[in-house]
Amino acid sequence: MKVLLNVPFDEKDDAKFLGAKWDKKVKSWYIEDISDIDEFSQWTGDIICENLYIIRAEKTCYRCHRKTHVMLLATDRSYAKEEGYRLNTNLQILTFVTDMPKFLEQDLEDYKYYLSFSKAADYMYFMNHCANCRAKQGDFYLHEMPEEAIYKHLFYENVKPCTFMDISDDEYMIPMTCDLPHYDEVANDVELMKLHIGNSEIENRASMMVTQEKMNELLPSVVNYYQGANI
Ligand SMILES: [Zn+2]
Repeated sequence: MKVLLNVPFDEKDDAKFLGAKWDKKVKSWYIEDISDIDEFSQWTGDIICENLYIIRAEKTCYRCHRKTHVMLLATDRSYAKEEGYRLNTNLQILTFVTDMPKFLEQDLEDYKYYLSFSKAADYMYFMNHCANCRAKQGDFYLHEMPEEAIYKHLFYENVKPCTFMDISDDEYMIPMTCDLPHYDEVANDVELMKLHIGNSEIENRASMMVTQEKMNELLPSVVNYYQGANI
């Protein structure tokens, strides 16, 4: 598979000199082999995704109070820079995404997912927007607030599960600049978490005790439930 690189225009000669090639179809520099990636690390973003999923859920817009859809990107075959580009097969949800290849950016605009400025984060990142009123739906709520969290159905009954779509490309690995959650840093006590369901004191991922093991359940459970469903 071609490994795409996020090379700024004025660094193209450097990339070319090191052996990167140009792909006309997606208008991006790339290398042929992930094992050569170390030399190109300045252009990989935080993580290279061999596959890519859209996980989508319904949410009530805080502004117009109508239902809208929100999505997050996820991968379960990836190579993170901070892990020395070792293959990681854990499910990872990519949040606060600030850079991705242009062709993907254009595809995701259809989902009202595009760059917006976040006052809370104080930078631009790829954000969901209400389909009705275009209000920004920040990643914080999808990731940290239990009732809105994209993985809520792992813990809560009587909530609508998310839907899922595989948008992997057989031809390309995708570099992303984003936050990578470290699920294993939190305690592994789901039973305790369940006791607190509905308790407003649960305010963030840490208190929900989401572990990597739980995250890995997310995709298979969604896939089994919604096999063949379109988003
Ligand atoms: Zn709205």
